[in-house]
Amino acid sequence: MVNGSSPRVRFCPSPTGNPHVGLVRTALFNWAFARHNEGSLVFRIEDTDAARDSEESYQQLLDSMRWLGFDWNEGPEIGGPHAPYRQSQRMDIYRDVAEKLKAGGYAYDCYCTAEELDARRDAARAAGKPSGYDGNCRQLTAAQVEAYEAEGRSHIVRFRMPDVPQTFTDLVRGELTFQPENVPDYGIVRANGAPLYTLVNPVDDALMEITHVLRGEDLLSSTPRQLALYAALTELGIAKATPVFGHLPYVMGEGNKKLSKRDPEASLNLYRERGFLPEGLLNYLSLLGWSIAEDRDIFSIEEMVAAFDIADVNANPARFDLKKAEHINAEHIRRLDVKDFTEACGPWLRAPYANWAPEAFDADKFAEIAPHAQTRVTVLSDITANVDFLFLDEPVQDDASWAKAMKEGSDALLATARAGLAGAEWNAEALKSAVLAAGEAHGLKLGKAQAPVRVAVTGRTVGLPLFESMEILGREKTLARVDAALAKLTA
Ligand code: GLU
Ligand code: ZN
Repeated sequence: MVNGSSPRVRFCPSPTGNPHVGLVRTALFNWAFARHNEGSLVFRIEDTDAARDSEESYQQLLDSMRWLGFDWNEGPEIGGPHAPYRQSQRMDIYRDVAEKLKAGGYAYDCYCTAEELDARRDAARAAGKPSGYDGNCRQLTAAQVEAYEAEGRSHIVRFRMPDVPQTFTDLVRGELTFQPENVPDYGIVRANGAPLYTLVNPVDDALMEITHVLRGEDLLSSTPRQLALYAALTELGIAKATPVFGHLPYVMGEGNKKLSKRDPEASLNLYRERGFLPEGLLNYLSLLGWSIAEDRDIFSIEEMVAAFDIADVNANPARFDLKKAEHINAEHIRRLDVKDFTEACGPWLRAPYANWAPEAFDADKFAEIAPHAQTRVTVLSDITANVDFLFLDEPVQDDASWAKAMKEGSDALLATARAGLAGAEWNAEALKSAVLAAGEAHGLKLGKAQAPVRVAVTGRTVGLPLFESMEILGREKTLARVDAALAKLTA
């Protein structure tokens, strides 16, 4: 509840391209706001730009929202009292509202050509005057309109901005005032009759009775326009109340530049493919402009919802920090039940990630190794390379690892170790003692003695705890791999 009533927020992406982290942060803050305040989240698809919107992107949006664990009270798939929730299916509504705005004198037909607009803008700039639309068509006479029509000119519909400052209190940034010369009359319907974002977005917010608009700071400049349009819609009896606005801070990427949806690290799919847990990613993204408490970075989504207050969002730009995102994700992996961890690894244990034959996979062996992996991987996709030694016929060939571990004398060390291992009881502790003893015989500490054994058995210099790995791989395969390495060294 906010001031005793149930708030209504919306998440209204356009289905263009792949979902990106900025979009997810906006969805998260709206969702958390709705859940914290026992309000409603309206999911609306802003697909009025046929040239840029795609069905594939729409499906991806839905799939991403589900994967992240979001739910909504109204929107695609579930409908609701303000259906339809895809703007492409609401065109009649916008046409009707545009007509009413014109009839009420809130909007007018503008016949200026692009060339005329450019020329007048350049002239205004040169004269040091405001360079926005100059109001040329605000008061066209019937004769002027007729003349333009006779010339065969087309027209757009322009909204008439009031000639007074627009002031509002932003939930994040406090009181803001926009001067009229900076917010000129603006287009709401294209020459071909297609309604623009500038019209459809506030119209739907009005019709869907949205009470709080929480969105990115990049949209701040459209807010004074939308407030003026809202006032017109209220006078026309279309809007019941004007929402309050809160603009979420910019997210900065590499080199302190705004993270763009085209930056690879902005792509949600990348995080999914790398095996971020939804809760890990959301935990991290919630910190872009908000914090739960000082010195506290790791929390569950339930804890976030319980604590979330838009008044705590910081207006300063947030910095996207991949290392921190990974660290937080790793912590969420550690928190899983081992059973859930095992299950979550599933996709990375199959093609196209896994490099072993599907029938070589052994679920029991994986269950044995999983607890060792769970305390070490950062993202779930790390699992593949960590366990492939168990399921490949031969360990991967990693030349760099081989060169690093196999030094002069490694053959002698391996031969001694092989003898010790062959006679050892097959458990991690005994295997460790055998390698330790082999190292001592050659004047090597455990770390140094272990390296060639690890590369022989797993193919890599880094990996899960070696002796547990060998125990799980089994005597026969382990010894065969040490033999193969010895053969290669002495060839
Ligand atoms: N469809 C708009 C966008 O994707 C929504 C903007 C808003 O939240 O008002 O940017
Ligand atoms: Zn004009």
